[in-house]
Amino acid sequence: MYSLIEELYPICRSITGNGVRETLDRLKRVVPIEIHEVSSGSKVFDWTVPLEWNIRDAYVKNSQGERVIDFRKSNLHVLNYSVPVREKMRLDELKPHLFTMPDRPDWIPYRTSYYKKNWGFCLSHNALLGLADGEYEVCIDSSLESGNLTYGEFFIPGETTDQILVSTHICHPSLANDNLSGIAIASHLAAHLAKTSNKYSYRFVFAPGTIGAITWLSKNESAAKRIKHGLVLAGLGDSGPLSYKRSRRGDSEIDRVAAHVLRLLGEKVQILEFSPYGYDERQYCSPGFNLAVGRLSRTPHGTFPEYHTSADNLGFVSSQALGESFSTCLSIFSILERDATFLNTNPKCEPQLGERGLYRMMGGTSGDNTSEMAMLWTLNLSDGTYSLLDIAERAQLKFDAIYNAAVALQQSGLLKPVASESDRPGQGA
Ligand SMILES: [Zn+2]
Repeated sequence: MYSLIEELYPICRSITGNGVRETLDRLKRVVPIEIHEVSSGSKVFDWTVPLEWNIRDAYVKNSQGERVIDFRKSNLHVLNYSVPVREKMRLDELKPHLFTMPDRPDWIPYRTSYYKKNWGFCLSHNALLGLADGEYEVCIDSSLESGNLTYGEFFIPGETTDQILVSTHICHPSLANDNLSGIAIASHLAAHLAKTSNKYSYRFVFAPGTIGAITWLSKNESAAKRIKHGLVLAGLGDSGPLSYKRSRRGDSEIDRVAAHVLRLLGEKVQILEFSPYGYDERQYCSPGFNLAVGRLSRTPHGTFPEYHTSADNLGFVSSQALGESFSTCLSIFSILERDATFLNTNPKCEPQLGERGLYRMMGGTSGDNTSEMAMLWTLNLSDGTYSLLDIAERAQLKFDAIYNAAVALQQSGLLKPVASESDRPGQGA
């Protein structure tokens, strides 16, 4: 995943254009995603697919002809979606088009102007202070023309048509954590899950932020009805602890599973309440869809100084953090895959577990009695209304302990499955 990020890092992505296509093409080597193009001007709910932006070069040259701002050194130097410019101007005329961060004078900020026609350059504040008065040659060799918005999709059929959605944005240029970490994890999750047999079907969406998710939802309104659980992946490569932002529903199964998994990590994890601000969970959780889609991140966006700056670079993300984020996603899916509701076939008083080889023969021994407690809880609460996750939460035991107990009890005939989780009344309506 880290080397994929290294490869994708130099590409200048935006909400449309060849940077996105190049990125999706590269992902095809990880997993054979399907690429979709939606033409500029298409109506997608209240939005319109914008003109396609492409950029070849951009610079500001001083009077000696030296590139004092150079897109070839960092694609963050160009205000993303800048209209083309070729002009000579004085520094005071240029200055309104220059963006810096005076409080982080060595970093280049990342700025965009998607929906308002503008042009500009981003540079370190120290570089700005070094610009002498005089005339500058300004060039942004970009194009903003009728074309397409590009997104990628990968579908893995499971035993049921109920789906788990994994969605990540693909529109940021050279930023490693915000964007590339999500792309790397989502593509490798897809490659992994394509090789296992799954109860759920999995749908992976790689789309530009906001407009891409809106476009996908507008083209897939009926497919979206099959999404039972979902995760937006963003910012998963930094060294901070994991955080999970609840869906708009707040207590959907994925919200509870993610909280359960994160708590087991025993770090300073954060469980954040839903808010209509952030990444594409905003679209999936809009009231007309209200999908059970939460967001998994490490340090939440906007709360670390490197966010949307040149300091969100290859040194800001690590293989270790990516690996932990990846396995956390798999742990969440694994619980969703195995959660089920059972009925105790011997509900009148406790069954004799010892006779069935299910209980320690010696009474009064000290030590870990987790498996016995898990069995007692599972038997007691399996009245057809509690799922294994419900039992784990109420017993304050790990899901795996409850699951293993349920497997053993089922093998002894003491438990039988009832209708699947999503069919239970009052759950996930
Ligand atoms: Zn961002």
